[in-house]
Amino acid sequence: MDLLSIVVPCFNEEESVGIFLDEIQKTLFDRNYEVIFINDGSTDNTLANIKDLANSNQNVKYISFSRNFGKESAIYAGLKNASGDLVCLMDVDMQHPPSMLPEMIESISEGYDVVAARRISKKGEPMVKSFGSHMFYKIFNRISKLDLVEGATDYRVMTRPVVDAVLELSEYNRFSKGLFQWVGFETKWIDYENVERFAGKTTWSFWGLVGYSVEAIVAFTTVPLSISIFLGTVISAIAFIYLAFIIVKYLMYSDPVQGFATIMCALLLLGGIQLLSIGILGKYLEKTYKETKNRPIFIVKETNIDD
Ligand code: UDP
Ligand code: MG
Repeated sequence: MDLLSIVVPCFNEEESVGIFLDEIQKTLFDRNYEVIFINDGSTDNTLANIKDLANSNQNVKYISFSRNFGKESAIYAGLKNASGDLVCLMDVDMQHPPSMLPEMIESISEGYDVVAARRISKKGEPMVKSFGSHMFYKIFNRISKLDLVEGATDYRVMTRPVVDAVLELSEYNRFSKGLFQWVGFETKWIDYENVERFAGKTTWSFWGLVGYSVEAIVAFTTVPLSISIFLGTVISAIAFIYLAFIIVKYLMYSDPVQGFATIMCALLLLGGIQLLSIGILGKYLEKTYKETKNRPIFIVKETNIDD
């Protein structure tokens, strides 16, 4: 039987790891599988708990990072170390219901390359968060060539060719949702209702999500640069016409000093747009800078996987 690798990023999840493994065992009891826990620099007992699980269960593998590198890095490390013909990506907090796994695996055998879960309800989520995320999808899809599926989660089962394709994208600034979409392949979406976290708490704050959205846009489209060129052009054109108007007016009527308000408005507006444009430019420069440094995406401190 094909080996199924389940990749599970964990950051401060001491309460969840054991329960998660129990559920997986119940769901996949006679299947050939491995669970790869990635301990992303947890500061609680997550690693110790994972090691206990690994001692009593041969299917448990782990990779422990030297510090917190973020979920995107953990996903990359997990995919890189998964040896399965099928690879599943899952959160440890039960928000990705293990009960969906059999159906997902079944769909792969129907011939799909990827089967991914899509959240259709946002039950239990604050209004600002769901509205913000809705706006993010609208803007992202509008200005990038990718079409992200709203509600798409990282909960997915992929065949080996898809995993290899994602691993080929070894960029430092990783926005996995975009990368998964970018590689293509035939994807089946399975809908489910939002489930609340089993234990612990989410690491995402409102501003964290806003920042993440900006990163995602910068990683997948350069349209913001074009927008600043467009704004610059339109405003220069208007300024030029206005200048001609002022000159003509001066020649015809000479000029009593007036128009302080106009000057202030123009000054502030132009100053604002200039700063904004420099900021946008800076964002792209920052990404290029980080990419050229070519730093590793993660650093492993310990693992029980031998290469
Ligand atoms: N996670 C991680 N590194 C981080 C933050 C989160 O590996 O820096 C893991 C976390 O343990 C969980 C998954 O990523 O398994 C999703 O995190 P969380 O539940 O906080 O996100 P949400 O479900 O709220 O989107
Ligand atoms: Mg969660």
